[in-house]
Order: sequence, then structure tokens, then C-alpha cells
Amino acid sequence: MLFVITGPSGCGKTTLVRQVMENVKNVQFSVSHTTRKKRNSEKEGRDYYFVAKSEFEQMIKEEKLAEWTVIHGNHYGTSKREIEKKGTRCYLLLDINVQGAEQIKSKLKRSVFIFILPPLFEELKARLEERGQESPDSIKERLEVARKDIRFYPDFDYIIINAKLKKASKELEAIILSTRCRLDIKKKEIVPILRSFSEDR
Ligand code: 5GP
Repeated sequence: MLFVITGPSGCGKTTLVRQVMENVKNVQFSVSHTTRKKRNSEKEGRDYYFVAKSEFEQMIKEEKLAEWTVIHGNHYGTSKREIEKKGTRCYLLLDINVQGAEQIKSKLKRSVFIFILPPLFEELKARLEERGQESPDSIKERLEVARKDIRFYPDFDYIIINAKLKKASKELEAIILSTRCRLDIKKKEIVPILRSFSEDR
């Protein structure tokens, strides 16, 4: 089962995902491929698979990606292998952008789609500025992208407003836990229980 988590840059989705992974069992992070440079805090294979553009293009050509996009000049994508390897065994969290989420939606309809919103546009702007990772031009660009991305919210199953991290991560946990109780997910698990109720046992 896939949980596709999207939201504008700076809305805090990566922190949220990390937090939930610590608290919920049987959940894994979908590690994307990217051509962007590795940041000091990042680890190959944990945060991303860092690859050259030529390698990424080869993956596109060989149809190895379930979805992919270009963000601020860098390529990002989720490999089919990552989904096959982890998605069948556990609950897989995909931290991807709107374009990627739309691609997954057209292919894997049974996934759960979650949109993270900042409390206000001004708050998002302030968070990006405080983060100090981007130039003023890059912040401006991210805010413009956010304005466009936000229009896609009706395509998502759930909305989380990330005003307070604790509350937002509880809401994300609740979505994951309630999905686990869905009839279509529980079907296999309840077979022996139903059998135990059978009169001709
Ligand atoms: P960053 O470079 O800050 O790690 O991520 C930039 C953006 O890329 C974030 O919005 C993140 O959700 C998105 N992203 C990361 N991996 C993927 C991916 O595999 N596919 C898509 N479509 N977006 C991704």
C-alpha cells in the first residue's frame, strides 16, 4: 500500500514523514532517485539514490520509473523497483511533488493521496526564508510553484494543515492506521477468524 505525500516546498512534509516513521510500525520510506547534489546531512540510499543525469535518462528510457519530474533543474523519480521491493511488504511513504503524485494516481489508483498545507502563504514564505537554504530568487520561484501546486488539492484524499508538527504528525499517523483497518486491506487477515465462526467446522 502506498501513501503519496505531497505539498509545497517548505511545508514540512519531509520532517512529518520522518516523525511518523519513528512512531508507526511497518512503515518504510520510498527512496527516490535524483540528479541533485547530495547535501552534507544526507546519506546515499537513505535520503536518495544520487545519480548522474545520464543514468537517470537511461532509467526513463528503460521505463524503470513509476513516476518522475524535473524540479528546479534537477530530476527526481520513484523507481518501479522501490515500489515492488517495499510496497508489497509494508506501508510505503512517498514524499514527492504534485506532478509525481498525479502520475502515481493514473497508475496506482488504490494508493492513499495526502496533501500537506502550510497554515498560510505568509507562513510558508517565512519558513523558506528562515531555513536559509535558498537564495531570494529561489524562494520566489518556490512560492510561485506553490501557488500553482496548491490548485491540485481536490485530487487528494486527505488534507493535513501543518501548523504544529505534533498535531500534523498525529493526523498523518491516524490516516495510516485507519487505512490499515479498511476492509479490502483486512480481507486476508480475517479469513481464519471468519472460518472459526463457521458452523460446519
Ligand atoms: P529536495 O531537493 O528538497 O529533497 O526535494 C525537492 C522536492 O522534490 C520535494 O518537494 C520532494 O517532495 C520532491 N521529490 C523528491 N523525490 C521525488 C520523486 O521521486 N518524485 C517526485 N515527483 N518528486 C520528488
